[in-house]
Amino acid sequence: MTARALVLVAPTRLEEREFPLPAIGDADGLLRVEAAGICGTDVQQYRGRLGGVPCVTPVIPGHEIVGRVERAGADALLRWGVAIGDRVLVEEVLRCGDCSACATGARGCERMRVYGLTVTIDEPPGLWGGYSTHLYLAPTVDLHRVPDGVEPAVAVLAMPVANGLRWAGALPGTPPGASVVILGPGQQGLGCAVGALVAGAGTVIVVGRAIDHRRLEMARELGAHHTVDADATDPVAAVRELCHGSGADVVIDATAEAVKAVTQAIDMCATGGTVVLAGLKGSAPIPGLVSDTIVLKGLRILGAGGHDHASVDAALRLLASGRFPLERMATHAYPLAEAEHALRVVAREVKGEKPIHVSLIP
Ligand SMILES: [Zn+2]
Ligand SMILES: [Zn+2]
Repeated sequence: MTARALVLVAPTRLEEREFPLPAIGDADGLLRVEAAGICGTDVQQYRGRLGGVPCVTPVIPGHEIVGRVERAGADALLRWGVAIGDRVLVEEVLRCGDCSACATGARGCERMRVYGLTVTIDEPPGLWGGYSTHLYLAPTVDLHRVPDGVEPAVAVLAMPVANGLRWAGALPGTPPGASVVILGPGQQGLGCAVGALVAGAGTVIVVGRAIDHRRLEMARELGAHHTVDADATDPVAAVRELCHGSGADVVIDATAEAVKAVTQAIDMCATGGTVVLAGLKGSAPIPGLVSDTIVLKGLRILGAGGHDHASVDAALRLLASGRFPLERMATHAYPLAEAEHALRVVAREVKGEKPIHVSLIP
């Protein structure tokens, strides 16, 4: 038996390779991959640079991974809290297991690695990414059991939904009835719209651009009260008007690379409000940032970071509950052989396609 995988050998060069299936001991395991979600990070990785830094190669990409536990040792199953055959979502961050942060379970493992991004195929057994029929489950992996009835391409949405639950709910402490604005209607932004609604927000406004037409429609289908096309109207003025002149209680910047969104977020936030910065800008400075506005309005500015284990489990329960039509976000699925086309769809380079979330089905 062998695994079939796509290896990014150099920027924009994906090659199909076969790998022998590894021997599994007491503490590790093997996953039969059912879906590998593709996000903007995958596109940047494919092109060769992530956050201004060259990507590691040769790597099997794919960090949003769902599959069934095919083989695992008894110790591993006990530690992970799963059984053979269970459908699981893989936490992409692999902790080292023995630094000071790992000892206490805190964030910031000193030697953390990331499935699909930082471990090369040269490290045995090579199967460190989701664009593959099989994934190696290292002893320190963190798995989430997927509730019955949640399809693989929908289960991968648990990560953006988990981010949204945290960024639009717990992190800013969104109180019931609050007004929440989300800049950027990508999968993270749509996750934030759901997170704001779960927190009990009274007004949820999602801001996008003309190209985001389908995504803004999706935001309304999920329950957002208003959407704003920033190409057609000034988003700051539009938000102020929708919030009766005062601005929003919570503003989340979930845009990738749009530096202007940061100053817009600050400008549309109400006095005493909270701005959550969640979108990475490739280390770019923010032109026109006037810090006096933050001081005079008494704003809280928070960096979003990622999700935690509990918010991913909550997201999976939410997906299973059917409370929001989140499965509609899973718009495209492709076999491994069409990965390059799938990446172009995610990059919105394929005319006529309106992707929200795209998966590979190996
Ligand atoms: Zn991702
Ligand atoms: Zn560690």
